[in-house]
Order: sequence, then structure tokens, then C-alpha cells
Amino acid sequence: MTEKDLFEKLSYKRKDAYEQMSPEQVREMLDMCDEYRTFLDEGKTERECISLAEKMAIENSFRPLEEFDSLKPGDRVYCINRDKNILLAVIGEAGLEQGVNLVGAHVDSPRLDLKPNPLYEACDMALFKTHYYGGIKKYQWTAIPLALHGVVYTKSGEKIEICIGEKDTDPVFCVTDLLPHLAKDQMSKKMTEGIEGEALNILIGGIGAKAEGVSEPVKYKILSILNTLYGISEADFMRAELEAVPAFKARNVGLDESFVGAYGQDDRVCAFTTLKGILGMNETPHRTAVALLVDKEEIGSVGNTGMLSRFFEMALAEMLEKEIGSYSITAFNRMIRNSACLSSDVGAAVDPSYEGVNDKLNAAYAGKGILLMKYTGSRGKSGASDASAEFMQEIISILDAGQVVWQTGELGKVDQGGGGTIAMYVGNLNMDVIDCGVPVLSMHAPFEVTAKTDIYMAYRAYCAFYKLR
Ligand code: MN
Ligand code: MN
Repeated sequence: MTEKDLFEKLSYKRKDAYEQMSPEQVREMLDMCDEYRTFLDEGKTERECISLAEKMAIENSFRPLEEFDSLKPGDRVYCINRDKNILLAVIGEAGLEQGVNLVGAHVDSPRLDLKPNPLYEACDMALFKTHYYGGIKKYQWTAIPLALHGVVYTKSGEKIEICIGEKDTDPVFCVTDLLPHLAKDQMSKKMTEGIEGEALNILIGGIGAKAEGVSEPVKYKILSILNTLYGISEADFMRAELEAVPAFKARNVGLDESFVGAYGQDDRVCAFTTLKGILGMNETPHRTAVALLVDKEEIGSVGNTGMLSRFFEMALAEMLEKEIGSYSITAFNRMIRNSACLSSDVGAAVDPSYEGVNDKLNAAYAGKGILLMKYTGSRGKSGASDASAEFMQEIISILDAGQVVWQTGELGKVDQGGGGTIAMYVGNLNMDVIDCGVPVLSMHAPFEVTAKTDIYMAYRAYCAFYKLR
């Protein structure tokens, strides 16, 4: 062996995912990414993603957990929480007390939520006031087409689903921005202050109804349109969850079409690949395979639909009871202790225009496979779930055995910032957990970019974890 060969053998180098793939795998990747783009177009809110996931689950012979009196290996079950979380499971041979293999992702994404009382008229225009959700760079959300998605309940309790701006014939909405000619003061502000939260107002109308004695004719016109279309009035906005999201569709990016560009890929890229992994499991696994899609990750995983909700534990407890015929706290605790979780959330891919924010040795690169993050957090690993060496060993050997191309990385330079995911809350339950997922460019922007090879490797990683652990 030459010293060059020996050096290559002894040192770690990221692999290029595409280089490692067979022509069949490339075809499978391209088909999967076509399906993924449709998933992104149809699932632009957490509710829409959960209803899509339920539809896909039913098509793949999953049935609601409450329909089962008892569970046996091979059973395919799902459980939905408040239209915003879903848990899917394929019951394994080993018995739940041996633990489950959990892949968890989130389906909420940054956006502009309508305020509870949003509608007003100014300068003969009608606008909606918004309150942004999640960590956004506010300037990115002005001057782009927006669609309105969500639900409204009427006084009588009727649920109205709204989706305007997705069809080519639909109108869209937007937050207007100041012209450069008059932006001298705005442009000299810090970027964090250039666009204020209270300026993220959405233009929704400009024709005043010819109505005698009406003090706000444009607002009146908009209320009449809403009443005609949906039978709602202004007070019903208080019984609503309406989200303004980018109106554009998911697209292939690049002359070689090597990337997917779309809104909401954090973290629907992991949600989609997780779903594909569990829905495609046709053999009964050794341990029970579980996929969990949660809401509210972008605002701290709080509330009854976030990872901090006890929904997950309650669903597992019900499954355990239906498997062993009785409830035992000891059996439940053993199940949790023997479980392992891939917290599948996106990471930051190195942007060639901003390389300075990364430590090159510990950065993630688009196209180099699924990203394993031993920990996230910020500063001195604050808010991190730090995976143990033992668990890293277990996961890396599973990925290698499954011929998954993977890389390791941190979010960025130590002092540059940081972030957290659902991993720490899973860890708090006393479960082994590691952050992993697809590296993303322009994370949290209205148009995020991922490499198709990484999407495919995430899917392979989840399949390998379900099959081999
Ligand atoms: Mn995320
Ligand atoms: Mn995020």
C-alpha cells in the first residue's frame, strides 16, 4: 500500500452521494422527487400535511388505532391529534417492550399568520394584519405572491376550509415594499429593522363598493366578497387559523435539475421521506417502526400539538396496552428506554457565498448525503440533545450497512448562532436520539433549496433504521 492509499484509508472524507448511486437508484431518486414536489404543493400548512399523510396512510393499508382491540406483529396503525400531528406505526415481531424505532419530523413552517382581527382599510385599500410565525428574515416576505390557506369556523360551528392563490386562475396576495427611490431611511437601517413586524400587512383589495353612508367602502366590499364566497363575517376571523404562504409551486432548480426549490422544505423534506419510509414497509420489522409528524417546532415545540405535548406518549401507551392486553407502567418505561429516535430535521448546507459562517471541517454540504448532527443548540451547546458515542456508533453502523451516504456537521461556527429541534424533548423521555436530516440552502426563506441526492439518502437512512435496528 502506498502512503497515499494509507492516508486515504486512515482519514475521513465526505462521500459524494451521486457518485455512490447506481443508475436504478438515480431513477428511483428522480421519481421520488417528482412525487415530493407534488407533496409540497399540496401540503403548505401543518393541517394540509397531516391530511395528506392520512390519505397516504389509508392508501397503504394503515387503519386508525382506535379501530384495533388488540395489536399483533404486522398491524399498520395511525393516530391523529387535533388535525396537526400524526403517528404511524408498523407493529414489529419483538414486542413493544423491546422499544420502537422512531423517526420524528415536523410539518409546520415559517409563514405569516393572520391576526385575530386582521382586516382594515387605509388609503382606499384593504389589508390584512399578520403576525409572523417562526424565525424569518422579514424582508424576504415582501413583494412575493402569497396564497391564503386555513380554516374558519362560523358562529353556528360550521368549518370552512379556505385556499386561495394556488390555482393559476386564483388571485394572489402580497406584502408591498417601499420603492428604492424613497427608501433612503429604510435602506440605512439594520436589516433586522428594515421591515417591521407591523408592516407585514397583506394587500387584499382596492375597489370601494358604491355604498351610501358606508364609512369604509373597500373593507365593506371585501367583507361582502368573503360573505358571498364563504358565508363568513368579520368576527369569524377570531374563530380562524389563516396562514399566508408563498404562492409559487415547487420546482426543479439548476440546468442539471439537481435541486428542489420550494417553500416549506424545513421540515417537509424529512416528513415526506419519513412517510415514504414507513408506508413502503411491506415486511414486518423486528422492532415496531414509528413515524411521528409534529407541529409547532418552529416556535419551540410547545402546546398540545408540538413535541412537548403528551400525545406521543399517550399513543404509545395505547399501543402497548392493545398489544399486551393490560397497562403496565414498567412495561411502558422499558419500551421507552429500549427505543431510539432519529429526530429528522433539516440542517444548514454550506452556501458558497457565505462560507465564513461555517467551520469547514464540521459543516454540511449539499449533495454529500444525509446529515448527522451529534448535537445542535447554541453557544456552549445550550438547548442541545447531545447523542452519546454509543448511539452514534449504533446509528453509523446501521447507515453503513444500509449503504446510505451520510456526513456529519454542526449548524455553524460556535459563536455564530445556533438552533434546536425536537431531539431534546425526545431525549427528555429517556430515549436515545440523534438529529439528522437533509441539508438546506436558504433555510426559512420563502424558497428553500435541497439536493435531490440528499433527499434520497434521507429516505434510505430512514428505511435502513426501520429495517436494521
Ligand atoms: Mn426544522
Ligand atoms: Mn426551522
